Amino acid sequence: IKWTEGRGWHDAELVPYAPLSIDPANMTLHYAQTIFEGLKAYRQPDGTVATFRPDANARRFQASARRLGMPELPVDTFIAACDALVTQDKAWVPASGEESLYLRPFMFATEVGLGVRPANEYLFLVIASPAGAYFPGGVKPVSVWLSEEYVRACPGGTGAAKAGGNYAASLVAQAQAAEHGCDQVVWLDAIERRWIEEMGGMNLYFVYGGDAGRRRIVTPELTGSLLPGITRDSLLRIAQDLGYEVAEGRISVDDWKNGNADGSLTEVFACGTAAVITPVGSVKSTRAGWTVADGRPGEVTMKLRKALLDIQTGASADTHGWMHPLG
Ligand code: PMP
Repeated sequence: IKWTEGRGWHDAELVPYAPLSIDPANMTLHYAQTIFEGLKAYRQPDGTVATFRPDANARRFQASARRLGMPELPVDTFIAACDALVTQDKAWVPASGEESLYLRPFMFATEVGLGVRPANEYLFLVIASPAGAYFPGGVKPVSVWLSEEYVRACPGGTGAAKAGGNYAASLVAQAQAAEHGCDQVVWLDAIERRWIEEMGGMNLYFVYGGDAGRRRIVTPELTGSLLPGITRDSLLRIAQDLGYEVAEGRISVDDWKNGNADGSLTEVFACGTAAVITPVGSVKSTRAGWTVADGRPGEVTMKLRKALLDIQTGASADTHGWMHPLG
């Protein structure tokens, strides 16, 4: 779907996957007006297909567009575009279980010119790819690297938008994590380098309390420099449904380290569309390294993971009205 200043959205079409031709002076190549989304279509037990919370992705896409000075795509148009791509061949959605069809809606400037200003022409597209189960051999905890040198986003920046530039800023830190033998980066706040923000492509949750009855679950509050994850938001509600005490708050690196040392912090996990929920098994930084509890997937982590996946795959009732059926 195209957007042109003075004309709005026009020329929606469904076409075979093919390369795009780009002018060397395309404004996106120089000034990075590019935003995207990620969501999944799951096969349901009766053979039909449904996407998970596409309205939430559509609204976040609008928020990203506002921050980048781009036009807002109407929520209904965003959902209709995703629906059209999936329903043109539902056989594309894997048959069962945790497998899914991953959808990638995105938008970028198509105007040609070297002036620095919001562009007057954009293209919105959706592509898709089948996605296997993230942990085919069973859930495996990830190791994380606390990035103290680099920050992903700062107050007033684009951190709360799903914009390409945030990921460009993260690549060297991800390479640093790999050099230190870690799977993922954990970002800290830009000012004090003390408060936990999020992981490379996932939000984080911290589980406190020893007895099952008193578990308290905390996720870093939305500061404006971390992505408001849709999985994060869904888990705030599912954790409440399961009777846990849930809060959004501030968690420092020291809280994390001390909580693991004194046993009050029993589990840490990351959540996002791709992996749904991933336990965090160990942490490293330039100054310290520690194991999260016993380094194995925790009970609350696995319970929340099952509860969310059961809704997505249709194994349990969709009590929140999150599934968008496509027939
Ligand atoms: N943070 C970042 C930086 C991400 O890229 C993602 C993936 N979209 C998330 C968090 C998790 O968001 P969601 O649950 O909407 O996939």
